[in-house]
Amino acid sequence: MRKKIVAGNWKMNNNLDQTKTLIKELKKQADKQISDTTRVIIAPSFVNLNTAVKKTKKSNIEVAAQNMHQAENGAFTGEISADMLTNLGLKLVILGHSERREYFGETDAILAQKVTTALQNNLEVIFCFGEVLEDRKLENHFEIVENQLKNGLFHLKKEDFKNIILAYEPVWAIGTGETASAGQAQEIHSFVRKTIAKKYGNEIAENISILYGGSVKPENAKEIFSKQDVDGGLIGGAALNAKDFLAIVNAI
Ligand code: PEP
Repeated sequence: MRKKIVAGNWKMNNNLDQTKTLIKELKKQADKQISDTTRVIIAPSFVNLNTAVKKTKKSNIEVAAQNMHQAENGAFTGEISADMLTNLGLKLVILGHSERREYFGETDAILAQKVTTALQNNLEVIFCFGEVLEDRKLENHFEIVENQLKNGLFHLKKEDFKNIILAYEPVWAIGTGETASAGQAQEIHSFVRKTIAKKYGNEIAENISILYGGSVKPENAKEIFSKQDVDGGLIGGAALNAKDFLAIVNAI
């Protein structure tokens, strides 16, 4: 059975002190709230990952990196490798976030390499994808999403999918306060599951968790999470506040 997941992407927020404080606040409640069928993940910035791993060790909170480089190592100034992450004790990495695609030129081809490198290093991948507003208006969103999945993931083998979590994040809903309606989320999540089923079969499709991301808040989480093919959320802004993030965890 697929797991329910709430993951918080902290982006370039929270210095070391703030990271410690937020984890402390989350830990106070999270252990009581997290059931066996739910995973709670936080993704602090690279420099605070070591601390985050240590501070969450005796809790049910998992830690993810927000990105990594596709090469195993080498002359890539400023970059971080998969091995550096696993060596810190990390088990998860977010790849393909729309901010990485838009501001840092990450193409589908680069992301396909990153996914391969992550899996080869035993990292589980939260793979993000989603259309921009213009494509939604032109009703191209199904095609865009299908291509992002094909180009980023369809070189993988069936067995790789036990280490993939999908996150549908319509770009027009990220950090804008604009949320896809629960119906819009369900429509595309169901399409994504069917697209996976067509290529890899029903078992893989039924077992993969598909998260929704885009202005999820305590007020709208329950309705979005109530949809059959929505298995949780990738949360940005609301993940920076313990009370809000825990309320979203509670809504699952
Ligand atoms: C995100 O960046 O993954 C995200 C969903 O952000 P927000 O919740 O702030 O829209």
